[in-house]
Amino acid sequence: MAPASLDLPEASFSTIALHADDPRDHGRGSVPVAPDLQLSTTYRTPHPDSEAGQRLRELGEEGLDWEDPVAHIYSRYTSETRARAEKVLSGIMAGHALTYASGLAAAYAAVLHYAPAVIAIRKGYHGVHSSIDVFLRTHPNTRLIDIDDEYPADLQPSSLTTGTGTDTGRSASGGLLVWLETPLNPTGEARDIAHYAQRAHAAGAGAHLVVDSTFAPLQRALDHGADMAMHSGTKYFGGHSDLLVGVLAVREKAAWVSLWHDRTYVGATPGNLESWLLLRSLRTLEVRWQRQSATATKLAAWLRSLAVSTTPPTELSTADEDRALLESRIVERVWHASLQPRRDKDPSATPREVEGGPDFDPSEQLRHGWPACFAFRLSKPAIAYKLPHETKYFASATSLGGVESLLEYRRASDPTEDPALIRLSIGLESFEDLQADLRAAMKKFI
Ligand SMILES: *Cc1c(COP(=O)(O)O)cnc(C)c1O
Repeated sequence: MAPASLDLPEASFSTIALHADDPRDHGRGSVPVAPDLQLSTTYRTPHPDSEAGQRLRELGEEGLDWEDPVAHIYSRYTSETRARAEKVLSGIMAGHALTYASGLAAAYAAVLHYAPAVIAIRKGYHGVHSSIDVFLRTHPNTRLIDIDDEYPADLQPSSLTTGTGTDTGRSASGGLLVWLETPLNPTGEARDIAHYAQRAHAAGAGAHLVVDSTFAPLQRALDHGADMAMHSGTKYFGGHSDLLVGVLAVREKAAWVSLWHDRTYVGATPGNLESWLLLRSLRTLEVRWQRQSATATKLAAWLRSLAVSTTPPTELSTADEDRALLESRIVERVWHASLQPRRDKDPSATPREVEGGPDFDPSEQLRHGWPACFAFRLSKPAIAYKLPHETKYFASATSLGGVESLLEYRRASDPTEDPALIRLSIGLESFEDLQADLRAAMKKFI
C-alpha cells in the first residue's frame, strides 16, 4: 500500500518530476526505485478469472481509462514506461499530457484535432509550417492568416459525425486555430499568451489557441489561457540530444481521449526506449533548465554589452578583454526575452520585429526561467557562416535543449532566415567557459 496521502503544499517541478509516477503499491516487494526499462510491444492477457481480467471484461476496450489503464494490452495503445512519463509531464504541464513520436507528430496531431478552416500563424519553427502544408493537402480550403490579422468571428464549425464536440472531446472542425510559438524560434523572444488567448476566445467557441512552448519547458501555457500546449520534447524534456518525442497537453480529459484515439490509429506513438530515456531525463529537468537559463541570460547580456556601444562596460564585460570586440562592432544585435521590451531601439527594426509589442513584459509568463536558446546577428554573413566552426566548446549543430552548447548558422536550417544570424543553445558548461569560447572565436574575425 502507498502511504496514506499527506496534506502537503503543492509540489515543485522537481518533486513532481521525481514522484508523479511513483508506483501506487509500495507494499509489494521488489519495487525498483528507478523505473525499469520495458521494451515489450505486447502484454500477456490477464487470466479471465483474475481481478484485472474481470475488470477488463466488464469495461471492454471502450470503457477502459487509457490514461490510467487497469492493464496494458499493446504498446501502440499504452505502455508502462510511457504512461509513467506522461504522468510526470501532466504534472509539469498542469494538464492531461500525451506523447508523440516527435515534436512535429504532436504539431500535426494538434492541427488534425481542431481541423480548422482558418489558421492564424506567423513565423516560428519552419517545420510546423511544413506540417500545416501536409494538412492542407487533405484540407485545401483551410486559409492561413497572420496571427495579428483580424480573426474571423463568423465561422460555423461543424460537429463531426461521431458526436458533438463535448461528447468526443474533439473540437468541432471548421473553426479558427491560433498557433502561437513562444518563446519564439530562433530569437528566444516572448509573445503574450494571455493576449492571444483573449483574442482567440473573443472569436467564438470554435476558436482555439495552441502554444508551442518548446523554448520554455516550465512555461505552463495552459495556465496562461492556451487551450492546448505543445512541446518538442526532443529539446529540453529529453535534454540530452538522444531522443525524439513530442508532447501535447490539454485541460479536459475528453480532449485527451480524442487525441489518444487519433495517436493510436495514426500510429504516432513514441517507442518504449524513447519513453524510458524521456522519463529518465525528466527527473533532472528543473535543475538543467535553471542552470541553462541562467547561463544563457548572462551570455545574452554580455553579447548585448558588445553590441551597444553606449552601454558602459558591465561587470560581464571586462573592459580590456572586450574593448576590441566592442570597437569592431562585430556583434550587431542580440535578441532574448530578457532584453524585451527592446531597449536597444534598433532604428532598422520594423514594428513587426518587436515580437510581443514594446508594451509586453514577459517576466511573469517566463517566471520559471528566461530562454536558454536565443540569437545574435553579426556584422557580416561570412562571419556568421564560419563562427560556429571556430569554437572549442560550442558545437556547430542544429537543434537545442541538450546539455552540450550549440551554435547554429541558422540560415542553413531555414533559408528564409537573416544570413548574419547565429542561434545559440546553451547547455551545462559554465558561463565563464562559454563566454571565453565565444570571445576567442569572435576575436579571430576582427
Ligand atoms: C524542434 C522544434 C519542433 C519540432 O520538433 P521535433 O521533435 O524535431 O519534431 C517544433 N517546434 C519548435 C519550436 C522546435 O524547436
